[in-house]
Amino acid sequence: MSELSVDIAIVGGGLVGGTLAAALASMGAEVALIDRLTPTMQTDAAFDGRASAIALAPQKMLAAIGQETSVWDRLAAHATPILDIRVADGASRLFLHYDHEEVGTPALGYMLENRHIRTALYAAVAASNVRLIAPAEVVDLETTTARARLHLASGDTISASLVVGADGRLSGIRAKAGIGVDEWRYKQTGIVCTVRHERPHHNVAHEHFLTAGPFAILPLSDNRSSLVWTERADLAPSIVALPDDQFMRELESRFGDFLGGLTREGPIWTYPLEMHLAHRAVAPRVALVGDAAHGMHPIAGQGFNLGLRDVAALAEVIADAARLGLDIGNSATLARYADWRRLDTLVMLGLTDALNRLFSNDIAPVRVLRDLGLAAVNATGPAKRFFMRHAMGLTQGGTSDLPRLLRGEAL
Ligand SMILES: Cc1cc2nc3c(=O)[nH]c(=O)nc-3n(C[C@H](O)[C@H](O)[C@H](O)COP(=O)(O)OP(=O)(O)OC[C@H]3O[C@@H](n4cnc5c(N)ncnc54)[C@H](O)[C@@H]3O)c2cc1C
Repeated sequence: MSELSVDIAIVGGGLVGGTLAAALASMGAEVALIDRLTPTMQTDAAFDGRASAIALAPQKMLAAIGQETSVWDRLAAHATPILDIRVADGASRLFLHYDHEEVGTPALGYMLENRHIRTALYAAVAASNVRLIAPAEVVDLETTTARARLHLASGDTISASLVVGADGRLSGIRAKAGIGVDEWRYKQTGIVCTVRHERPHHNVAHEHFLTAGPFAILPLSDNRSSLVWTERADLAPSIVALPDDQFMRELESRFGDFLGGLTREGPIWTYPLEMHLAHRAVAPRVALVGDAAHGMHPIAGQGFNLGLRDVAALAEVIADAARLGLDIGNSATLARYADWRRLDTLVMLGLTDALNRLFSNDIAPVRVLRDLGLAAVNATGPAKRFFMRHAMGLTQGGTSDLPRLLRGEAL
């Protein structure tokens, strides 16, 4: 049994924990990154079939972190720019149209397959002084006023000034730190798969609001698109169990024929859809980031982006405290992080929940009102630009108080 002592111990090397480790490595802190799964398991093509829409500000952050080679440099060859977003309400002809030229940026965001993001993050971690401890299961957390100690299933321990819970929706660190969580389950399942189509997508992302929920078609490289098909939770199991030709017929009836014939590539994944919010983002010697702190419906593709915003804020408060020679895990440092993230998190959770409730039903008066709403937003330049800037991560919680990393600056 051994005892390791570091400045910061990050529990969870998923998309968010991996990014935080890569960000903190560049400030010279001693960082341990612990995950129950090895990088090989997490980057396997069969592990995570999702692709993520990365907004513009988080993309700038990925370009600002990493040592010799930035995380973005490792990712750029796999990224598909989103130039245009078209939102349609079922069969209705009214739609909201977002075009990158309206905001004067090269793209509205970028699509990346999660396996490529994981590969790039683990490569950045391997090229840094971060101590990767995997596979290793964290089973307990103890805190004193001066330190936190993690206990691993192997019997080894890791002590740190600060423990970061980046251990996902069912966060054990959150529970061990005594932080409660509120959770709302939608009666919906996210069916995720990738399709190849005959015609090019021209870098357009589509969101069709159908009765069961949103059906998103997100552009990938090589005439492929990633689909996030929201279905009623009671129907989804029988849909994914259909023989492939029948599954494809169901899929095509929702997708439409505007991109020609479709072929499915790789497996079908399903995700229960829910929203959750930790009662607090911090506890003594503990901070939560990503899905450990909050989770939301994928309707707006913002879960990982919000986690990246946590990373940017936490890395900045840690870097500022270290620069002043202060204790990086003390309550004042952690309170600054929690205060910074509170409003943005609440706004994003509230917006995604409201959007999902508004669009996942077929009640006629609601449909008419939302179509009018979409048309009004589309026709009103300032309202449209506000939503675009928020979705692109250029503002947060209605303010422009962005952490340095999200402005593309170094820590
Ligand atoms: C269908 C779908 C589509 C989505 N699309 C988008 C999108 O387009 N854009 C976007 O921004 N977001 C999107 N999201 C959300 C996004 O995928 C998540 O917010 C993100 O993956 C959360 O990452 P995380 O690192 O916080 O958590 P996780 O990915 O859950 O990682 C947690 C890690 O902690 C490890 N761990 C847990 N407990 C322990 C323990 N006790 N000991 C050791 N290790 C442990 C796990 O092994 C895991 O690696 C989508 C989500 C869904 C469901």
